[in-house]
Amino acid sequence: MSRPRVRDDLAPMEGYHSPQMDVDVRLNTNESPEPPPAEFDIALRDRLDSINWHRYPDRTALQLRESIAEVESGAAGRALDADQVFVANGSNEALQSVCLAYGGAGRSVATFEPTYALHSHIAKIAGAEVISASRDENFNLDLGAAEELITSWKPSITFLCSPNNPTGAVETTQTIETVLKLVESVDGILVVDEAYGQFAAHSALELVSEDRSLLVSRTFSKTWSAAALRLGYLIGPSWAVSDLFRVVLPYHLDAFKQIAGRVALDFHHEMEARVAFLVEERGRVATALDELPLDQWPSGANFILFRPRAVPGDELWNRLVESGVLVRNCASWPGLTDCLRVTLGTRAENDRFLVALQEVLG
Ligand SMILES: *Cc1c(COP(=O)(O)O)cnc(C)c1O
Repeated sequence: MSRPRVRDDLAPMEGYHSPQMDVDVRLNTNESPEPPPAEFDIALRDRLDSINWHRYPDRTALQLRESIAEVESGAAGRALDADQVFVANGSNEALQSVCLAYGGAGRSVATFEPTYALHSHIAKIAGAEVISASRDENFNLDLGAAEELITSWKPSITFLCSPNNPTGAVETTQTIETVLKLVESVDGILVVDEAYGQFAAHSALELVSEDRSLLVSRTFSKTWSAAALRLGYLIGPSWAVSDLFRVVLPYHLDAFKQIAGRVALDFHHEMEARVAFLVEERGRVATALDELPLDQWPSGANFILFRPRAVPGDELWNRLVESGVLVRNCASWPGLTDCLRVTLGTRAENDRFLVALQEVLG
């Protein structure tokens, strides 16, 4: 039988996956260790009656975008409008919409490695050329390299991730402003991926305005304890949001998801309490890691990147799995030789991780 050949440019690529294993303690995908509050389930059930299942949902998801604008006005420090919010099935789909609208064939997309693999992955699938600069040896952005990359290639999209996955580094507002100026000087757009934004002390949302080429993405997957919901959003100038509506499929956000997202936002304070708990655990785990023969990087997210000094990363990862603890093995990722990334879990899960780690390294 003859079969169609996948696009030539996709042939060398593999789909993205995060290996899952059946172990007791799963600290590998940066999800929230706690589900949403029980009241979320009850409130959601109560609202299901309002869905007209035989009708298409609101194509613009207006009420959900209004609720997001209201909640995020806090982080932005000023009122945001629903027309400055774009929503999609996970922030990855929102980022894909950006790549479809502004990337694509004949254009380039800039990343600073190591960073979230999906930025370059999605950009390539959308047909753009990905150009990258390396971060310095502490995984900080090298502004000289950024200037060189942006002014010579004039990328139509530049990605930053803050807090950066997998290193945890938070970019300062000044760094973001500097990169934004460079991006605007070549008529590009800057996307700051803030999937972990609520775990950090400050946000690029403060910089969003109608006259800046800046989009900030966030997600319900991590801080909102709703990875199963597949809901994410971008906040930026209304003209960019209009451009994203040109490329997204009609009725892309189903009626159930629009309601579930609004109900989740009603539990804003509970979300903040869970985030505050994880930030406290981050401090506790980082202090415990300081006592062990490893290097770790300061994190503004719900995970910590670390590298054992005397044992290869692969070996440590295997020993942790044998003890029933799964962390993310980054040891073979470019620029991350021997590094592992642990997601902060419940207090009991973090203790299991620390005990298992001490047994191998201690
Ligand atoms: C987890 C993560 C996302 C989330 O993607 P969703 O599609 O919203 O689940 C986006 N960006 C980064 C950097 C992430 O780590």
